[in-house]
Amino acid sequence: MAEEKGERSILITGANRGLGFEMVRQLVEGPCKPRNVFAACRNPDGAQAEELRNLVKKYPDIITVVRLDATDPSSIQESAKVVGSKLKGRGLNVLVNNAGVMAAGNMEDTTDDNMLSAFSTNVMGPMNVIKGFLPYLRTAAKSCDKPGMSCCKAAVINISTALGSMSSIPQLYSIFPAFSYSISKAGLNMLTVCCSLDLKEDGILCTALHPGWVRTDTGGPQAPMEAKQSVEGLLKVMQTLTEKNNGGFLDYTGKTVPW
Ligand code: NDP
Repeated sequence: MAEEKGERSILITGANRGLGFEMVRQLVEGPCKPRNVFAACRNPDGAQAEELRNLVKKYPDIITVVRLDATDPSSIQESAKVVGSKLKGRGLNVLVNNAGVMAAGNMEDTTDDNMLSAFSTNVMGPMNVIKGFLPYLRTAAKSCDKPGMSCCKAAVINISTALGSMSSIPQLYSIFPAFSYSISKAGLNMLTVCCSLDLKEDGILCTALHPGWVRTDTGGPQAPMEAKQSVEGLLKVMQTLTEKNNGGFLDYTGKTVPW
């Protein structure tokens, strides 16, 4: 039986490893495959993208790898051109800002460079990626006749963390001090809320999601969860999002994370 291939398209940044790669994998190996999965990463030819290259060999009609460095506006513009030529007038339904960097340490351990790197990747990166792909998100929102907001229509999903939650950090900081990371992800949370207000008129949903503590290079080997479980949850939650979640912050189980 031919497998179902849907009409939706999705772009994921940081798609070469960790949660981003797992998201690409589950999307293309699942029963409702999107039409296009744009796997954006900054070094598609590097050793860290080998698994992604192997996956592309299995699903060349669905996955397009695009070179995108979230800290480099010109690479975002170039990748947007590649995506535009592949979309051929159709919109981009979902943009997942997943790429992120984390440096562990408290205030005294943190250098200006740590702070600049965290802000450049975790805050300005998502902002510039949203701006770069906004025309395609708008096309998707306009061409969908369903009322309300959803990931089937047009959505920006920002992968945040409970470490960026001001009300959760007093319990988490002693276990996991990541000064620059927490501050930058709190910035990403505010970016999500501001974008949700800016893009409301366009019908584009903006939501921040916390993936849980996951065994990746960022999460480390002690993390209790595999990327598979986290991404299964994230994809399920994404399917349920509506305008009620616009400007909201949920975890991979669908529970609201306090700001
Ligand atoms: P990984 O360390 O496995 O992956 C990080 C990804 O981000 C890599 O693909 C990396 O690419 C990419 N990246 C970093 N900087 C850039 C950049 N400038 N441009 C493009 N890509 C970049 O981490 P995770 O998969 O765990 O993290 C994914 C997201 O989930 C992050 O936003 C993280 O903050 C968040 N998160 C993770 C948690 C966890 O426990 N794992 C918990 C809460 C949130 P490259 O290979 O080129 O370095």
